[in-house]
Amino acid sequence: MKTNARIRKMLGRDLLAELEHHLHPLDCQTCGGPFRGREPTLAVHSEGELTTVALHHRKCLKPGCYGPLQTSLHKSWRCSALLLEEQSPVFFVVNPSCETVQIETTGNGWRITSLDMYWNSGLSATLVPSVMPPETLIATLDGKRLTVTFTPVGTSLPFTWAVGGLGERTMKAIDSYATIAVVVTTALNGGPVRGLRDVTEPIAKGWAASGMARVHFTPETQRLRFTDFDPNTIADLFGVLKGIIKNRLGVELEDRPALAAFATCDGKYDMLPLLSGMDRYLSMLLVASVYAPSKTKGTPGEGVHIVMPDQEVDTVVKMFQTVFADLDGFATGRLPDDYATADIAIGTLDQYNACPTGRGRLLITDRVTVTAEQRAPYRRVVDI
Ligand SMILES: [Zn+2]
Repeated sequence: MKTNARIRKMLGRDLLAELEHHLHPLDCQTCGGPFRGREPTLAVHSEGELTTVALHHRKCLKPGCYGPLQTSLHKSWRCSALLLEEQSPVFFVVNPSCETVQIETTGNGWRITSLDMYWNSGLSATLVPSVMPPETLIATLDGKRLTVTFTPVGTSLPFTWAVGGLGERTMKAIDSYATIAVVVTTALNGGPVRGLRDVTEPIAKGWAASGMARVHFTPETQRLRFTDFDPNTIADLFGVLKGIIKNRLGVELEDRPALAAFATCDGKYDMLPLLSGMDRYLSMLLVASVYAPSKTKGTPGEGVHIVMPDQEVDTVVKMFQTVFADLDGFATGRLPDDYATADIAIGTLDQYNACPTGRGRLLITDRVTVTAEQRAPYRRVVDI
């Protein structure tokens, strides 16, 4: 980085050495153009208490001290999503400002304050924070694209970072944990994060802030599909349930409800709404049965939730309980009481609204409308 005598005297050798780790020459902060390997110049921008160090092209700005940085439009961010090991949440590592660093005077030197906003919003200094997500961090999975939004406490202006082209295993891990670990660090250069060390080193040096982010899913991502469960596995399960239904309810499972359930599991939602009465309930039971046992054991609020018209809830709960009696992984209860513990919890819209805003593996809404906010945390959603 090109400096001058005034900057060297003002910032001191220690800070200049440390800045090398936090300033990454991607785009010029005057014109927005790339550096393409050319040495950037370093400029100090002051505005009252606020001091920003930024990189510019030599032809755009000479090294020196200036007034406020005219625009933050050219600030680059870089992020990566990586699955560091099996059985662990996905890490989303982001450098929110590659070419600028915030500093403040300590009286006898300087302190880098770029991450203060994150500490002040509840992010922590450890690798995997034990606390549940601060609501300041929300992740959204849209197909193969993962977006993280950070809204600093006390503001309503979010920062948004996104990474696309996620691999199958990464997407599956996001899906199964429904939370990710977000690591914000200014020590990450423009290249992709390659391994655990790229994450642990900044953390160890105090150059990173981390927090867990709850994952929301977009409606298209929430559609059921045969990649969730193999069609043969589903067909086998339906075959077993056909026998149990005959035994316990004394009714024959006809082709129509079975085919409608099968199509629903492949994201084709137009057949099931055409059914009524017992056929409709049986079809819903089949769909619920595919997703119910795969809940994350021991984690509250991970079951299948069904919301339906008031007068039908009692009938359907009784029917499900009769069919699933003694079957492990299909415990059927009621909303809101069994919301967190049942494999399948059924209730009216009022009862559902009395539940904590939570999440689950599958939400089935039958002739009722829940809010976008209530739907977002579910991995899968079926509207009948
Ligand atoms: Zn420039």
